[in-house]
Amino acid sequence: VRVLTARWILPVCRPPINGGWIRIRNGVIVEMGAGAVDSAAEDLGDVALLPGLVNAHTHLEFSDRKRPVGTPGIALSQWIGQVITARGESGPIDRNSAIALGIRESAAAGVRLIGEITTPPARYPADRESPELVTFAEVLGLSPERGDERLRAAVAWNQAHQEGAWSPHAPYSTSRECIEACVAQAVGSNRPIAIHLAESPEERQLLEAGSGPLAQALLELGVWRDDAFPWRRDALAQLIDWLSRCPQALLVHGNDLRDSEIARIAPHRQMTVVHCPRTHAFFGYPAHPLQRLLAAGIRVALGTDSRASNPDLNLWSEVQYLLRHRCDLDPLAVIRMGTLSGGEALGKPMVGRLAIGCRPGFGIVACPATKLDHLYECLSQNTYSPRRI
Ligand SMILES: [Zn+2]
Repeated sequence: VRVLTARWILPVCRPPINGGWIRIRNGVIVEMGAGAVDSAAEDLGDVALLPGLVNAHTHLEFSDRKRPVGTPGIALSQWIGQVITARGESGPIDRNSAIALGIRESAAAGVRLIGEITTPPARYPADRESPELVTFAEVLGLSPERGDERLRAAVAWNQAHQEGAWSPHAPYSTSRECIEACVAQAVGSNRPIAIHLAESPEERQLLEAGSGPLAQALLELGVWRDDAFPWRRDALAQLIDWLSRCPQALLVHGNDLRDSEIARIAPHRQMTVVHCPRTHAFFGYPAHPLQRLLAAGIRVALGTDSRASNPDLNLWSEVQYLLRHRCDLDPLAVIRMGTLSGGEALGKPMVGRLAIGCRPGFGIVACPATKLDHLYECLSQNTYSPRRI
């Protein structure tokens, strides 16, 4: 049993505690409080103690990339072609070693839980230090043959993996029939679903009008099908309605969500929008509708996305990006996005918070602050170091 005290404790599920203490047995929190500290307490000093971080969305198979694909400001339609080329150049052995690199990088960054988009077959090494994984088997294809093949691979993956889940890639790359089949599987298996959604105005143009740069890119890639697009005028609303049937649904990106679509998501507490701040910045999209999502009561979690659109897999850097660039957001809400909201989105609400009965993993950030404002300033500036306790 260890009793720890720190200048600040951030339980996340309740306000920060100035000078609190925490009692831990075998990594599990058994007691905690504010006020007078147990005389046996070990003082961590001028730091803020936080739970482990949650990366709600990534693709570890790209973790060997030294830099993102393309240049900042690249159009999604161009980036996709370049990613397909990059992916074609790596075989399954390369992918498995990239995954191993990504797991190590995530563990070193203090990430305790990952929402991973996987392309079966793939291998995930695990040891005591490895983060927990929820593996969303990716399904994509506009042709029935390709979609069926990926769906069969996903079914096989999820039969063999307890923490398996479903991921129709995106409405621009996956047929309506295939997305509906994934929804049916998610409902039938009572497992989460994740989909890239409302990523760019190009996507909306493709779905609603069957035209634009993404249509052109699909033609050039040789995968265009006349029967696949357009959907209908309210394509995104239709998608949201389908996804709302799933036990947990992660809507990844949501950069281009309109108010009417936000209102459609809001009643469904099992839906989460996953924002990837530095990937969003890489593509140069206009300001993300984060404030409107939060105001509507929608859960928002954070992801790094992959190293194909982000410089690294450091989730704390995503938190800090928002703390520095989005002064319109409550800093505590931002911390929640990088911890508890990700745990809830992935069906693991005991991860991402410091509370009795949890085994959340721990991290510290240097912080001599005595006031709340200064605490958030420290968090926006200083490194998060995972701490084995
Ligand atoms: Zn992604």
